[in-house]
This record gives sequence, C-alpha cells and structure tokens, in this order.
Amino acid sequence: MNGTPEDALKSITPTVRCNGTPPTPALREGPYYKPDTPRRTSFRGDVEGGVPMLLHGSVRTLEGKPIGGTLLDFWQVGGEGIYDDDGFRLRGHQFADADGQWRLETVVPAVYPGRTRHVHVKVQPPGGTVLTTMLYFPGERRNHLDKYFRPECLMDVQESPAGWEATFTFVLDV
Ligand code: FE
Repeated sequence: MNGTPEDALKSITPTVRCNGTPPTPALREGPYYKPDTPRRTSFRGDVEGGVPMLLHGSVRTLEGKPIGGTLLDFWQVGGEGIYDDDGFRLRGHQFADADGQWRLETVVPAVYPGRTRHVHVKVQPPGGTVLTTMLYFPGERRNHLDKYFRPECLMDVQESPAGWEATFTFVLDV
C-alpha cells in the first residue's frame, strides 16, 4: 500500500456486497448487445495477446443466499476497444453453479472513446427477470467522467504480472 488515491479506493471496496447492501443496480444495455450467444466460460481463444483477466464471483439474494443456476451473459471489448458485431468474439453466457458461483476467463477490456473501462452483463436468476448492468474497475481515471458509472458496480481487482483478477458479487432482489 503506497497511499495513492487508487489504493485508497481499492481498500474501501468491499469484497462481498450483500447482507444488507442494496441490489446491484440496472444500467443501460448500450448498442452492442447480441442475443443467442454461445455457452462458455472462456473468451481467451477469441483474441491474440491482451492482458489476461479472470473474472469471477457469485450471485446472491439481499440476505446473502446463493442463487444457483443464474444465467450470466457477458459482452465486452478486448484490448483494441472494438465490439464484435459480426460474430461472438468476447461474447458468451454461462450458468452459476449450485453455490451461485461463476467464473469467466477473458482479457482486460480497453478504454474506448466516450466510456470508462467496463464489462457488460445480463444476469437472470431461474424464473426471474433479467438485470442488465455493467461492471467497472477501481482507480480508473475516467470513472467519474462517465455518466453511466456507478460505484456500486465496481469490481474488486488485483493486478499481477500474470494478469488481472476481478471479483464481483451480484445482489438480486428476488
Ligand atoms: Fe460498452
């Protein structure tokens, strides 16, 4: 800990956002979502290079109970900052396991013009409604210049030479 503002922000970011914290807020879908994505837990084969990122976490109720079987549909840009409109590069869905855990092997998304760094996701518990939201990275210079940024959607991110590890707990009011 060297006392930079980025470190301070990280240190106050809770690892688990449930047990009394509000539900994860909905955020705009944006223009780049595509339905009917492939089911998979790794996007690594989609791109050459880029900074590896392991994105993982859980889905929980307001009381902190896991919501197994939740559908998570992710889409993002890679290191070059472009969405794939023709195919399903860096797009895919998966289901949380019985303990509400999910895990995606991907790459760090670039900052593209007009937006801070983010990953898009749709989250749907079994039999429930779809929550469309975005996940953000702490310490990004553009976070507070981005009108869609929400601090409640900040992930907990650790950077290492091997890549980034980002975690997030979705809290659903089911
Ligand atoms: Fe986007």
